[in-house]
Amino acid sequence: MADHHRKPHVIIIPYPLQGHVNPSVHLAIKLASRGFAVTFINTQYVHHHTLKALDRKPDGDGSHDIFSNVRRSGLDIRYTTVSDGLPVGFDRSLNHEQFMASLLHVFSAHVEEVVGSIVARPGEGADCLIADTFYVWPSKVAEKFGLLYVSFWTEPALVFSLYYHVDLLRINGHFGCHDCREDPIDYIPGVQPLQPKDMTSYLQESETSSVCHQIIFNAFQDVKAADFVLCNTVRELEPSTVLALQEQKPFYSVGPVFPEGFTRSDVATSLWPESDCSQWLDTKPRGSVLYVSFGSYTHLSRPDLEEIAHGLSLSKVDFVWVLRADIVSSNDVDPLPDGFKQELGDRAMIIPWCRQKAVLSHPAIGGFLTHCGWNSILESIWSGVPMLCFPLLTDQFTNRKLVVDDWRIGLNLSDRNKTTREEVANKIARLMSKESRSEFKNAVEAVKKKLEEALMPDGSSTRDFDQFLMDIKDRIH
Ligand code: UDP
Repeated sequence: MADHHRKPHVIIIPYPLQGHVNPSVHLAIKLASRGFAVTFINTQYVHHHTLKALDRKPDGDGSHDIFSNVRRSGLDIRYTTVSDGLPVGFDRSLNHEQFMASLLHVFSAHVEEVVGSIVARPGEGADCLIADTFYVWPSKVAEKFGLLYVSFWTEPALVFSLYYHVDLLRINGHFGCHDCREDPIDYIPGVQPLQPKDMTSYLQESETSSVCHQIIFNAFQDVKAADFVLCNTVRELEPSTVLALQEQKPFYSVGPVFPEGFTRSDVATSLWPESDCSQWLDTKPRGSVLYVSFGSYTHLSRPDLEEIAHGLSLSKVDFVWVLRADIVSSNDVDPLPDGFKQELGDRAMIIPWCRQKAVLSHPAIGGFLTHCGWNSILESIWSGVPMLCFPLLTDQFTNRKLVVDDWRIGLNLSDRNKTTREEVANKIARLMSKESRSEFKNAVEAVKKKLEEALMPDGSSTRDFDQFLMDIKDRIH
């Protein structure tokens, strides 16, 4: 029962992956800046790694709270942690299925315990649970504790729509069959005809009983009971898809959810220590360097990694490559061809992790070879950087379609296991050449303008966020 004398209190629980924690942290700050009390709950694993990346001890003094800086500036954000059901030291990268299974089967019991204790605190209580759409339990947990349920979707509206209409895909023979239709999908409300190869990887698989499939099916069943859906997209990027979803649910496009100031955040979110390459970039001519990263958890096959490495070398273009230690597998920590680094000399910086927003917005960066994670795409657009796309898993195939086919701000590489070093080198040269750079640059600047305008005081994302705040307050009181 809401206490009308206190501020509205929301509990936020991000999915425990880097690309979900980042926008959730900035959503928490946005809400607290608008007078909400927020309790942010990270998993112990994410908490531990964030502090380790900062070289802080998980159980140390007050510095264990990642929100302490913003709290000092007056925002009411509380912070706590919850077990995801596995020991903190468990290798989630090597055992991804087991990690996902724990999130599917075990996590909700831990969440219920923590949420229950927050709700029961005398004089506090809570009004609303904001949880990642990929969770399978939020509507039940919210109902149990009398909270509103807000689902936070950190990928494009197009991907939400595909999962939301998975039954339509099944009925029409585009999903869940061994011999699925190959013609375009032209019956999803608001979605322009789409090739099956542009669906998310899980929707392209014929075997549909994996843990990830169970998560998706259950999560998109659960989201039907959400009171509100917030999406980290911009209405002007996907107008018909957003409109059609709004006809079905209270759906608000509030993106891009970035830190104020973009490159600087008061809250540390990286799960790995950030290497600094700004001094090296300072020595390079404007727009001359390619940034290469495949995100926080997807893996490359060893042959693809070798083709990409040789292609980078052949391209003659300077580059920064974020090469995570587990990029191929935690069991294969040195997958680069022999002598690769030595051969390149000053042409390349190869680092395990960086502050991506700062790197992308450095004037020396002229292109981004990306796996097409949604955050990476939004950050690249915001930095005015065109992309060379090499999707590997999940939503990245659908995101690629938006970048290359719809907005024309990037190029494709051939699919996994098909690309060659020659293709990689040629496409890099094309992306970075003076002529095509100015063509792509104009296109990316036009899309960037849409993002900037959406965040203006009268922009679409600001208006949607304001409307969401009004609607949620109406429901609380
Ligand atoms: N990122 C970073 N440093 C890196 C690589 C990535 O800070 O070296 C951040 C990046 O800015 C983005 C997130 O990690 O916010 C990755 O999210 P994305 O959706 O692009 O991909 P995912 O990791 O979820 O596949």
